Amino acid sequence: MKKHILILFVALLLPTMVLAKIKVLASIVPVYNIAQAITGDKAELIVVVPPGASPHTFSPKPSQVRDFAQADVFLQVGAGLEFWADKLVEASGNKKMVIVNFTKGMKLIQNDSDGDKNESGNPHIWLDPVRAAGMAKKICSGLVTADKKNKTYYQNNLEKFLKELNTLNKKTAAEVAKFKIKEFVEFHPAWSYFALRYKLKEAGVIEETPGREPSPKKVLALVKKIKQAGIKAIFAEPQLSPKAAEVIAKEAGVKVLILDPLGKIKDGKINGYISNFEDNIKIMKEAMK
Ligand SMILES: [Zn+2]
Repeated sequence: MKKHILILFVALLLPTMVLAKIKVLASIVPVYNIAQAITGDKAELIVVVPPGASPHTFSPKPSQVRDFAQADVFLQVGAGLEFWADKLVEASGNKKMVIVNFTKGMKLIQNDSDGDKNESGNPHIWLDPVRAAGMAKKICSGLVTADKKNKTYYQNNLEKFLKELNTLNKKTAAEVAKFKIKEFVEFHPAWSYFALRYKLKEAGVIEETPGREPSPKKVLALVKKIKQAGIKAIFAEPQLSPKAAEVIAKEAGVKVLILDPLGKIKDGKINGYISNFEDNIKIMKEAMK
C-alpha cells in the first residue's frame, strides 16, 4: 500500500519537476531577444517594457511587481535606462533574484549637446553587435548561476549566437562601408554605439532626453547642419513621437526614416535581434547610399 502511494506521489510530482523552468525578466525587447537566443525553451522569459513602448517614457503597471517577486533572473541595461526598475525590485521583496546589469563597469559614451548631459552615460549598447555579444555572455553567466542543471545547454546556445553576431557584424561593416552619406541626424542618441562601431557620424540629435522638445534655436541649428552636411534623412522611431523630427525634416527638405532601435511584433511574434537589425540596415541603406 505504502509503495503504491509513493508511486502515485512521484507520478503526480514528476511532471511539475521536469517542467519547472526558471523565470527570467528582460527589461526591454532587445534584451529579451538576446536572452531568447540563449534560454531557448529552458526558461520562462518575460519582457517588462512591451513592444511598442519606450523604456524612456515607460511606467510599469502595479501588477508587474508580481513578475519581479517570482523572477529568478532580472536582466537590465542599466545606466539609467530602466529608471523605473529599482522601485519594482524593492517592492517585490525578492532577495534571491540574480540581477544582471550590462553596463556596470563599462566605459560608456557621454553624449553632450546643449549642456544636456546624461549623467550615467549613453545606455544604447545593444545596437552594436560586438557589445551585444558581451551582453549575451553576461546573460549566459546569469542563467547558469540561477539554473546550473542547464549550463551546457545555455553555453551551447551562447556559442551559436556569438557566431551569428559575428557574421552580422562583418556583414554590417561591409554594408555601411558602401554608404556614400556618412552622417545622420537622429531623434534621440540611440545610434551612438552603432555610429562608433561603423564609423558613421551623428551630425545632430533632436531630443537628447526623449520627451524634451528642442528649442526653436536648436531646430534652426539642426536644419542648417542637415543642409551643410548633405544629410538625406532623419532617423525617427516607432516608440517615440516623430513630431519634432517631421518639423525639422520639412524645413530642411529631407525624409524622416523610421528605424526601430528596440524591435516590434512581426509575423505574430517579437522580431528577433538579428532580423530587426537587418531590417534597420535595409532602411538606412536607402537613405545613405
Ligand atoms: Zn533610447
